[in-house]
Amino acid sequence: MRRPLRLALAAVLLGALAAAGCTSKPRGEAELPRLAFGAEPNADLTRPDILLDFPSGRGGLAGRTIRVGGLDDLVLARKEVVLTFDDGPVRGKTPAILDALDRHGVRATFLMVGQMARSYPDLVREVARRGHTIGTHTQSHPDLSGMAFDAAVAEIERGRASVDAALVPSGRKAAPFFRFPYLADTARLRRHLAMRGVVVVHPSVDSKDYFVSTPDQVRARTLAALERAGSGIVLFHDLHARTVAMLPDFLDDLAARGYRVVHLVPRSPAGGALVSAALSADE
Ligand SMILES: [Zn+2]
Repeated sequence: MRRPLRLALAAVLLGALAAAGCTSKPRGEAELPRLAFGAEPNADLTRPDILLDFPSGRGGLAGRTIRVGGLDDLVLARKEVVLTFDDGPVRGKTPAILDALDRHGVRATFLMVGQMARSYPDLVREVARRGHTIGTHTQSHPDLSGMAFDAAVAEIERGRASVDAALVPSGRKAAPFFRFPYLADTARLRRHLAMRGVVVVHPSVDSKDYFVSTPDQVRARTLAALERAGSGIVLFHDLHARTVAMLPDFLDDLAARGYRVVHLVPRSPAGGALVSAALSADE
């Protein structure tokens, strides 16, 4: 696809995402994260020299790194937080989010949309270069629960391929971490992903930054939800200006309240492809 067309598609997608919000099927905020199983290459992001090659940050907000190989690994202690950003990367906004995270020396997980990755491959590489984990979030952000199974799998596979394509020049690959658009899953798709070693990173604290609200409202709402839960995987979107605006203060809030930001990385550098046998007849 030629670049101008790709950019136009990205703009259309961006508008649709911003208008619709990401999570039309919100779940209970205190619900424990539901994870499938996963282990796969993201060798660059699991290399000790890279993990250590980042500032310790101010205020001690940076917490431990969890190498996720299965559900049992993803146990957060009280006051531990995982930061996730969906739907990007986006020019102008994702870099600002990276800067805010760098100021505290913390790392997040970005669940990227394939069309966005194709439009802004340099941003995909920049997120990886700065030590964050990159997972995927389909190619064009459809509601997979309303699609035929094979079409849904193809959407997931294309999304992964687009992110991997952007990472090729850096010699990296996306982590086998996935999030369903609108959090709209099906049991069959979950089984399919689990069988292929893919971790479905489900949020337990929804910032609801897709609602029209001020940055301070997003900040207060998210903090309150996190305080009620005690710990959690927080859902943000890096395509909203209000999210970019609130993040520095939100991170200061976390530090002041004694939270630690935990970084998720795949446990093993070896493993299978995300959907290598995507359309196999075994399901
Ligand atoms: Zn989304």
